[in-house]
Amino acid sequence: MDLQLNKKVVLITGGGKGIGSGITLELAKEGAIPIILSRSSILPAFKERLEKHTDNYEFIQIDLNEADKIKPIVDDIAKRYGSIYGIVNNAGANDNKDLETTSWQEFEKSLHGNLTHYYELVHASVKYLKASRGSILNITSKTAFTGQGKTSAYAAAKGAILGLTREWASALFKDHVRSNAIVVSECWTPLYAKWIKTFADPEARKKIITDKIPYEHRFTTIEEIAATAVFVLSPISSHTTAQWIFVDGGYVHLDRALT
Ligand code: NAP
Repeated sequence: MDLQLNKKVVLITGGGKGIGSGITLELAKEGAIPIILSRSSILPAFKERLEKHTDNYEFIQIDLNEADKIKPIVDDIAKRYGSIYGIVNNAGANDNKDLETTSWQEFEKSLHGNLTHYYELVHASVKYLKASRGSILNITSKTAFTGQGKTSAYAAAKGAILGLTREWASALFKDHVRSNAIVVSECWTPLYAKWIKTFADPEARKKIITDKIPYEHRFTTIEEIAATAVFVLSPISSHTTAQWIFVDGGYVHLDRALT
């Protein structure tokens, strides 16, 4: 299937690692022009994989917490390429700011790191998205639905992202701009690997988690999320907007007592 993404410019935050890197690769395979906005340089192994599919990509180093830097970057991209078709808001991290020990100042700082740049990137890009009849995809987390017990700020940010997804779909449908979200539950990525090491027995914890994922009792792969992401983002999904799409092996919706 031709996803009609050829030569379309798509900005992906955190697009050099984890889920974002999978989306960048799929976009490259479709002939799109991925522009990675991320904090750390892309690793040589990922660069090599990407360059098997395209030379027509960019990496722009930015700490997205410095939200004032976003608009000049967006305007420069639009000027150089002539248009922007897609935004993939993906960068973020579960920082475990819990209810009992987190001050409101730390809570706000965490919200800033997980939420403000999602807003600012779309705010800065909206006129270009309107001009290209573009598409927004927000990556969010199951914690917005299930909680996690120790992560008030992250859960709040991820819930707000669901709200923004619908708000932007409402604000922009007359301009033929779509806005959707993918909800991730348990996907094996560098961030996940780091998080699991915070448990005394990471292997035992992995088993507890995968045992509870109904479909095949395994983690979702980066490729599975990327395939859905690129399809939903593409013009082929032309009547899909305001959706929260769960790519999670049934983790959030199925009865956990199923064996
Ligand atoms: P990851 O492996 O850490 O990749 C995220 C990338 O985003 C990294 O390159 C990271 O840079 C970058 N990044 C994070 N904050 C940034 C900032 N402020 N400025 C610039 N770059 C930044 O994470 P992932 O597991 O792929 O997660 C991607 C998204 O999925 C996140 O929004 C996360 O909340 C969500 N999610 C993931 C899971 C899961 O199971 N993995 C579950 C639910 C939701 P550094 O390398 O410098 O940190």
